[in-house]
Amino acid sequence: MTLQQALRRHSLPRLEARMLLQHVRPGLTHARLIADPDLLLSEEETELFEQLALRRLQGEPMAYLLGEREFYGRNFRVSPAVLIPRPETEHLVEAALARLGQLPAQVVDLGCGSGAIAITLALEAPAWQLQAVDLSPAALEVARDNAEQLGAAVHFHQGSWYQPLDGQGSFDLIVSNPPYIEQHDHHLAEGDVRFEPRMALTDEHDGLLCLREIIAGAPARLKAGGWLMLEHGFDQGDAVRQLLLAAGLQQVATLPDLAGLDRVSMGQLAG
Ligand code: GLN
Repeated sequence: MTLQQALRRHSLPRLEARMLLQHVRPGLTHARLIADPDLLLSEEETELFEQLALRRLQGEPMAYLLGEREFYGRNFRVSPAVLIPRPETEHLVEAALARLGQLPAQVVDLGCGSGAIAITLALEAPAWQLQAVDLSPAALEVARDNAEQLGAAVHFHQGSWYQPLDGQGSFDLIVSNPPYIEQHDHHLAEGDVRFEPRMALTDEHDGLLCLREIIAGAPARLKAGGWLMLEHGFDQGDAVRQLLLAAGLQQVATLPDLAGLDRVSMGQLAG
């Protein structure tokens, strides 16, 4: 099959067909695709392209088909064991870097998934010492691989939230993007989300279960003056601020995402 035939063969958006072709033939530039439409794919390339195109037509996320997604300017390996990194989560990274600056800090990411947050923080703030926790061994394998590929020093632990951190001292910053979707939310059955690990998306409850647990446990693990920063759903800002205040944290605030929706909330332990 030629490039042009491949591009036209399925009812895929052209951009997606092009990305799949570039995945099937690494090094194929956009310019070459346009300049050389009659370039012939090998039989294996054709077959792989066909398989990927059909999976895409069944709804599988592009990030899983390509095996990677960009986050904060870097490529992270992803698999169906991890949530696909979202642009909204870049706000959490920005907020953390803005609050703490480049001084040495002990930092932990709870529920790290692909490792996007912890690895980005480790690379953007080289003086910080990063730890990261996830319940899923399969997710940790992806995260460890990403840390190695990107050259980030992150210590990973398997377990639930704070449990594997006992004896690890206290933190200047705790960050988390926990599962916060309510169990019956229709989004769980739509689009890319259908293919993502359910345990990374929903608490199988009201959406606040993990946020509550993380917030309640934070004061005992934060240093004086330390911050807790959390991503949450667009309609959870009020509830999360109330939980942060109830835990005795100060400077409680919420930052909007690019769509202007409540997305990241934070609080500080009195210093
Ligand atoms: N932001 C994701 C979504 O809306 C949810 C991520 C999460 O639950 N932490 O699909």
